[in-house]
Formats: sequence, C-alpha cells, structure tokens
Amino acid sequence: MTVSTICVSRWDHATTPFPDMHITELDIPNYERVASCVDGDYRGFVAIHSTRLGPAVGGTRLWKYENEEAAIKDLLRLARGMTYKNALAGIPFGGGKSIVLRPDGEFDREKVFRAHARFVDTFGGRYITAEDVGTNPDDMAIVRQETKHVAGLRGLSGDPSPFTARGVFRAMQAAAKYRWGSESLSGKTIALQGGGNVGYHLAANLHKVAARLIVSDVDAAKVSKLVGEFGAMAVAPDEIYSVDADVYAPCALGGTINDDTIPQFKVEIIVGGANNQLFEERHGEELQRRGILYAPDYAANAGGIINGCRELLGWEPSQSTAKVDEIYDTVLAIFRTATTEGIPTYKAADRLAEQRLGEFPDIRQQSL
Ligand code: NAD
Repeated sequence: MTVSTICVSRWDHATTPFPDMHITELDIPNYERVASCVDGDYRGFVAIHSTRLGPAVGGTRLWKYENEEAAIKDLLRLARGMTYKNALAGIPFGGGKSIVLRPDGEFDREKVFRAHARFVDTFGGRYITAEDVGTNPDDMAIVRQETKHVAGLRGLSGDPSPFTARGVFRAMQAAAKYRWGSESLSGKTIALQGGGNVGYHLAANLHKVAARLIVSDVDAAKVSKLVGEFGAMAVAPDEIYSVDADVYAPCALGGTINDDTIPQFKVEIIVGGANNQLFEERHGEELQRRGILYAPDYAANAGGIINGCRELLGWEPSQSTAKVDEIYDTVLAIFRTATTEGIPTYKAADRLAEQRLGEFPDIRQQSL
C-alpha cells in the first residue's frame, strides 16, 4: 500500500471553500478510489472498491483503531465486502465504505460529521454513505446538510433491522431445505446469539413458525424480553456455542466461528445476521470438513441494504420485500455450487458474486 499524492487539486487551498480540508489519495491496487481526509478534529477515510454495478454504497463506521494502518485494513475489507454483498443481492450498487476515526474524549459531533460529509461530497455521488457501527440516523441528518449522497435518514426507508432479520430467516429456511429436505423450522431448536435489533426480529419470525429458541446476550434486559415474548430459554453468553440445538444464529459480533467455538458446536446449520462470522477463511473449510452447513453472512444479511433501495431507487415496499425473499434462492444456489464443486460455502458465495459482477457491462465512471 503506498500513498501517491497529497491533496487533490480541486480541493486544494486555492479553490476549496474549506481551507483546512486536506485530502490524500491512496494508491491501492484493485480499488477504484481510496482517500483520507483531515479537516480540523476530523480524520476520515473513504474507499470505493467497485462501481461496476452502480454507485458504491456502504455505511460510515465511527471507531477508534490502534493505528491508521488498522483502520485502512478494515476499510478495504469492508468496502470489498459491500461489492460482493450488493452483487449477490442483485441490486444495482457497487461497494464502498467509510471510516471516521473517533477523536479522543469529548468531541463536536456536528463538526466531525459535517467535515465527513464534505469529504463524501468530493466523490460526486460515486460513493453513497449511510449509518454503520457507531453512527446513527441523527449523524446522517448532519451529513445530509453538506451532501445529498447519503441514505438511512429518518422517515425514509427506516430501520433496516426487520428486513435484515427477514432475509436471515429466509436463508435459514433455505438451509433447512438443503439439509433436511423441508424448509420448515417448526420444532427445530435455534441457538440465537444477540437479542438486539436483528436478533429480536429474527426471534419473532422464528417464534411465529413454532421454532424453539435458546438465547444469549450480554445485556440481561434483551434476554428477558426474548424469554417473556417468545418463551425462549436463556443461557450464559459463553454457553451458546455448545447447547443442543439444530441451528446456531450469530446476531451479535463477528468472528464467533473460530478455533475455540467450532469444536463446541453440536448444530448442523449456521445462519445469522452478524457480519464477518468466520474469524478466518480457513474456519469455512473446517465447517465444511465437519459437515456443518454455513450460509455465508453477506448473502444472508443483505435484507437491510435491499430495503435501502426504497430510499435510493424509489422502490415500492413490495418490490424490496420480494427481493429480500430472493435471498432464499441465492443461498440455495450457493449450497449447490459448494456441493458440486467440493468447496466451502464462503468460496461458493464469492464465486457467485464474481460471476454476477462479470455478467454486467462495466459502467464505471471516470475518476473525478
Ligand atoms: P445490536 O447492537 O442492536 O445488537 C447486538 C446485540 O448483541 C446487543 O444486544 C448486544 O448486547 C449483544 N451482544 C454483544 N456482545 C455479545 C456477546 N458476547 N454475546 C451475546 N450477545 C452479545 O446490533 P444489530 O443491529 O442487531 O446487528 C447485529 C449484527 O448484525 C452486527 O454484527 C451487525 O453488523 C450485523 N448487521 C446488522 C444489520 C442491521 O440491519 N441492523 C445489517 C447487516 C448486518
């Protein structure tokens, strides 16, 4: 990774109305544009991995990293992940992401997100941002004051979680169909990790079809809600991996499929909403070796971004619901490819996404 130029000329001191804004372009192979920006207390990064299918869409993460290299590494992985997620979901968007480094101590949120928005605006619509870990619709309302290239605003497409949960539920039905010959989850036991936004709505879907629920959350109030509303059985956070269940549904953190947890699993299927569930890719191989059917996270949890098409493309609710339900077919196609080619499901998902990317004409726009 090399830094190629300091300051884009059109945003240089002489011409920009924001003289404190310094943009640095990063020369990253296989990415269309990666840049960082400093503007007062604000320090942020934007990566466009691909606009082959349309403008790059991906949220803004507000986070503290050990160093800038760690932030850029995360940025690149997340931006590429969005290209694959959007391609697999069959929506006309490319992949991008942005990171705002959380300033130390108290900071002026409005100033920081206004600066971020001005940076996003320099991408001229080739990158569209939204909320992500650490950001919320109020931050996006600030962003909207400086750029129109933002989604996830209150009163528009709304909370994505019920749609993400619906997609995860459809992916779970597809996995049941593939593994057990019927998509019915009635009487099946689901070990659900995380009863937050996605976990709660997934539990509601599962309760409706008479699945049994075992749940864990580090937040006792979330657990009580699931126990009270859906008759779930509660277990301690580190017990969720080893319970007697048919399906493990990670809906909290990434990396929970790892060397420590895999030997504990008694489940036959893993499907959840969390991002980056495999701690490392080799854990996908290990699941395959043990005969545990894994629905790759970015295929299963695309419901939220699909719902965003209502805001970004003016889709009717029925259109986005139908698209979310197509996650069922996508996941089945991944399982079939994995079986036919004798590869782990995460590799089959990558292959399918790459195939879809290859099927589209290259509509990339020229750099600004
Ligand atoms: P959330 O913060 O509402 O819920 C996460 C829950 O996990 C919280 O209740 C938290 O207390 C719990 N948790 C944290 N650590 C835990 C642990 N060790 N054991 C058990 N529970 C733990 O977040 P969310 O919006 O529901 O998202 C959940 C996951 O899904 C995240 O990985 C997110 O990136 C991913 N995701 C969410 C969406 C969406 O639409 N919200 C879309 C795609 C992916």
